[in-house]
Amino acid sequence: MNDLISHEVAITDSGSGLAAGDRVTGRIDWGRRHLFMRSHTACHVLSAVIHKETGALITGNRIGEAKTRVDFSLKDFDRSEIKSFEEKTNEIIDQNLPVEIKILSKEEALKIPSIVKLKMDLPDREKIRVIEIVGYDTQACGGTHARNTGEIGHIEVVKAENKGKNNRRIYFRIKTAE
Ligand SMILES: [Zn+2]
Repeated sequence: MNDLISHEVAITDSGSGLAAGDRVTGRIDWGRRHLFMRSHTACHVLSAVIHKETGALITGNRIGEAKTRVDFSLKDFDRSEIKSFEEKTNEIIDQNLPVEIKILSKEEALKIPSIVKLKMDLPDREKIRVIEIVGYDTQACGGTHARNTGEIGHIEVVKAENKGKNNRRIYFRIKTAE
């Protein structure tokens, strides 16, 4: 809500939950966070591949531990293209491209063509956080990312669905042990 960050905590059965003024320590579950960073960065690469190959707009994504999905809007979709999306994404991963964060003015950000591949507007702010996969894609994003594409590891498409006339959904997972 607004700019507030909240952490939800469980109240124990005995009722001895947190009280106002209690001191707490936060700890990131690094294994989970790193998987999400890699999966999220993979979303950037896969979305860019889909957009470059087909012109489709990306309509959403959801990161999960077992699999992550990317939704896109495309009228005529040939399922045989999915394998090429996966291969192209892994090629970009293998190039080990740096992932850089920049803060641009909204005016500067809007000059970048790939900024608008998401089917949504840029946030109404003066400064826009932009993620550049150097030499391949630039996208406005507030998330957490790998430092370079090689850190992601290869992806594997596990499922593809048609969700209505123009809406497509691809699920992938990160192949960890290789
Ligand atoms: Zn991002």
